[in-house]
Amino acid sequence: MITKINHIGIAVRSLEEHIPFYRDVLGLRLIGREEVADQKVKTAIFAVGEVRIELLEPMAQDSPIAKFIEKRGEGMHHIAYESDDIEGDLAGFKNKHIQLIDEQPRPGAHNTLIAFLHPNSTGKVLTEICRTKG
Ligand code: ZN
Repeated sequence: MITKINHIGIAVRSLEEHIPFYRDVLGLRLIGREEVADQKVKTAIFAVGEVRIELLEPMAQDSPIAKFIEKRGEGMHHIAYESDDIEGDLAGFKNKHIQLIDEQPRPGAHNTLIAFLHPNSTGKVLTEICRTKG
């Protein structure tokens, strides 16, 4: 079951360029930075209540985020919903003929399992399902 929004991912060319808006203008708390080698991205994570805003900067030209920025420019990249049963939810989506990018959950940043749904099935919004491990 989907229980809440976990985070919103925003693609940026440079974390340093965009951190001041979230930290100094909106006044959000910067709760961490992380490199996700798998996705070739650097992240800066802000807290807004229970929701996190994740800025995503590509670390290489072949990063999925680099390709996204090349095609569509900087901006909203994905919405991540939290699930209390990611395997069960993915099976349910499949039954409803939703196109999955990840058939099986895979490790994400900050101790999570994640899976993406294809934008073709979601009104062009890249949609992530995630579950915090443990
Ligand atoms: Zn995400």
